[in-house]
Amino acid sequence: MQHFDLAVIGSGTGNSLIDERFSEWNVALIERDPVFGGTCLNRGCIPTKMFVVPADLASSPTEAGRLGVDLRLNGTDWPAIRDRIFGRIDPISAGGLDWRERSGNVAVFHDEARFVDAGTLQVGDQRITAERIVIATGSRPRLPDLDVPESVADRVHTSDTIMRIDELPGRLVIVGGGYIAAEFAHIFSALGTQVTLINRSETLLRHHDRDIAETFTAELGARVPLRLNQTLAAVEEAGKGITVVTRDRNGVEYEYPADQLLVAIGRVRNSDALNLAAAGVEVRPDGQIRVDAQQRTSVPGIWAMGDVSSDHLLKHVANAEMRTLQHNLLHPGDLWETDHRYVPSAVFSSPQVATVGATEEQLRAWGRPYVASTQRYADVAYGWALEDETHFVKLLADPGTRHLLGAHIIGPQASSLIQPLIQAMSFSLPVDQMARGQYWIHPALPEVVENALLGLLQATVPAELGR
Ligand code: NDP
Repeated sequence: MQHFDLAVIGSGTGNSLIDERFSEWNVALIERDPVFGGTCLNRGCIPTKMFVVPADLASSPTEAGRLGVDLRLNGTDWPAIRDRIFGRIDPISAGGLDWRERSGNVAVFHDEARFVDAGTLQVGDQRITAERIVIATGSRPRLPDLDVPESVADRVHTSDTIMRIDELPGRLVIVGGGYIAAEFAHIFSALGTQVTLINRSETLLRHHDRDIAETFTAELGARVPLRLNQTLAAVEEAGKGITVVTRDRNGVEYEYPADQLLVAIGRVRNSDALNLAAAGVEVRPDGQIRVDAQQRTSVPGIWAMGDVSSDHLLKHVANAEMRTLQHNLLHPGDLWETDHRYVPSAVFSSPQVATVGATEEQLRAWGRPYVASTQRYADVAYGWALEDETHFVKLLADPGTRHLLGAHIIGPQASSLIQPLIQAMSFSLPVDQMARGQYWIHPALPEVVENALLGLLQATVPAELGR
């Protein structure tokens, strides 16, 4: 039986963990997926954003028209867009595997791992032991709880498969109202597909600050028909296409003819195949492996990071947890903790959304006094240049410490505009100092952030939370 200093299960963030500092370690890297490199690279963050850029370009004639520029979209070439994207990504994945297989101290296993006990793994038909085991198995799309007829299975997609389809669908139904649905609704509608979006609740992105979620829902709804308060009930064959059947809260059924269906109703953590019970690793009922701030599971020597154990299914969080874990494996006498205080995220749809910290609804629910400021893009010079009418920056701050409690942006460049606010939160920079202790380039778009900060200087605590 082969024995290792370290076994890592999962080749996404798990592969990145094994850097040059582990070159003296004898490491096993185990991956059951024939594709190497994990979700972010192969079917997640990176390719989706590579589709968003052509989608943004394809939708630019509408924007340009408002500014007096007559642009015309002559068409989009799905196979060319798709092949450019995967023509870059697939070689990176293949090259990563090749490089890893040639690294002298790492043995790559192409099989599923199952715990036999806390130090032993069954990997396909081999059994291995390891001093330390890192679980980095990620997550996968949640599938709907219904029987999809075999004859239409190839027309029903998740984010795993939709990006590689042969041709742009004429009609696409998307089920879901979270990150993935929001991004693909933009991608496909901009590229020329007739998209219908179906969501279980009234508001898309409903865990965001309500002002953001409502504005997003209204704006996407102006481009894409939204069918809200409905859930997926069935998928039926209809000639060369499908009929998507949904049901509302009163049990009324609706039918939507489509060519393809994309289901984006959340993700499931990949912990179920690991036989964690054999090792005694504690796992929550939803499959999330319990870890502490040092990334330790309930079993000494077994660690976990990323989607399988994190509260945040985000690659930048997996990366932060990986850095903690690298240090902790190398310095067991001086353990670090992952900083999960201010985890930002962005939705790369149209409009873009970016968020960090608490929402106004959370602060009210917690009874936490706050001051709020909302600054419209429309009221700063670059917003005039954009002829922007609907987008804004919303900030929430502690009236005593003057530290930001939350920042929420909807509109152009939201994912970039938010970065200084993340920085201010992470380094406890008071809003007054942030607003007036530096120059803000005029007339650049970050003036919308500057003005939102200045708005906080005059804001008062809502009466019911005042002390
Ligand atoms: P989310 O958890 O974000 O949203 C799930 C959505 O599906 C909700 O709107 C939910 O409705 C809806 N839903 C659930 N069940 C049904 C049903 N049966 N019928 C109709 N609608 C249903 O899931 P995603 O799949 O979009 O994303 C998963 C995770 O991946 C995210 O949490 C995010 O962390 C990560 N991600 C991050 C990205 C980024 O950072 N840019 C991009 C893509 C993914 P309801 O409103 O009622 O809850």
